[in-house]
Amino acid sequence: MKRIAILGSTGSIGVSALDVISALRDEFKVIGLSTNSNVSALTEQIKRFRPKIACVMSEDKAACLKNSIGKSRTKIVVGLDGLLEIVTHSDVDLVLVAIAGSISLLPLLEAIKAKKQIALASKEALVSGGEVVMKAAKRNNVKILPVDSEHSAIFQCLNGDHKRSLKKIYLTGSGGPLRRLSKKAFHALVPEEVINHPKWSMGKKISVDSATLMNKGLEVIEAMRLFSIDLDSIEVLIHPEAVVHSMVEFVDGSILAQMAVCDMRIPIQYALGYPERMPQKFNLRLDLKKINGFTFSRPDLKKFPCLKLAYHAARDAGTYPAVLNASNEEAVLSFLDGRIRFTKIPEVIEKVLSRHRSKDKPALKDILEADKWSREEAKALCFQ
Ligand code: MG
Repeated sequence: MKRIAILGSTGSIGVSALDVISALRDEFKVIGLSTNSNVSALTEQIKRFRPKIACVMSEDKAACLKNSIGKSRTKIVVGLDGLLEIVTHSDVDLVLVAIAGSISLLPLLEAIKAKKQIALASKEALVSGGEVVMKAAKRNNVKILPVDSEHSAIFQCLNGDHKRSLKKIYLTGSGGPLRRLSKKAFHALVPEEVINHPKWSMGKKISVDSATLMNKGLEVIEAMRLFSIDLDSIEVLIHPEAVVHSMVEFVDGSILAQMAVCDMRIPIQYALGYPERMPQKFNLRLDLKKINGFTFSRPDLKKFPCLKLAYHAARDAGTYPAVLNASNEEAVLSFLDGRIRFTKIPEVIEKVLSRHRSKDKPALKDILEADKWSREEAKALCFQ
């Protein structure tokens, strides 16, 4: 039985993961759960899964949680220290990191140091601190199993060590909810229109990232780190049917693709069960006869400048990816809160990137500093 901790258990990925765990109760046991602030959802999860330990991010919320779980034996911990306690808990075999944002970086690193197996959904941690994370994983002999559907697809296609025979990665994306909308209309977009994704149901932050195509940009950097491949060997393809979740080309010209319906429970289950492929209990089956052809095309970088900014940050490396990520997180939050227009998101990121003095081969401290600095810069631009 694999014993699991989920950071971000009340978010979209966390809920899907618990669905997988419920369906495979003989295979998995929940040891730890965490939420930012959704006490009512966490209360339900604690009652259902009886974890040993659970975390909320503030003392106030912890008091509410203790009150609402009554006599439960679950230990309640708080904030970043609480997350660190969960990921280093001696009963935990695997940590699913599913907190949106680079706030997941420190718990991720701690979990790696504690030699826990990692299932990683939080791409921001790898974008910000990719080199540091991958080095730590290597040093501690820890495998990072991708949960992001594209990276899970690539990982499955590689299936083992094909590093020397790998030629290229085709990172596919549906194009998001604004693919068909003219750029002129972007100016007036409100959050409700933006977060309405045609293919995937996801949290708000990643939904906005999918609309700006920043999500694809972050995924390019995530792929560079996870598969230690250079930027020029990754090509983004817009594939609106969203059947192929990514592809890998080998030196002999063969291309392998992974296909499945758009449901995160598939890549989550693969990561949790790895190296085993467990039978799926949700009847999520692709009906190939119902697919009316595949299309693949280049993304429009003029219409979606965030993707271009991500390419620049990836190429310039140093602390630029951390700045890209943190300024994006703040700009997206400001857009969701109604402070800035949709079209201002890339403007804010570009400005913060242009003001930044990058540090080469950054240590964790440099990354955290760049992250903090970028947030202040981005907030100043958004609150103007
Ligand atoms: Mg993805």
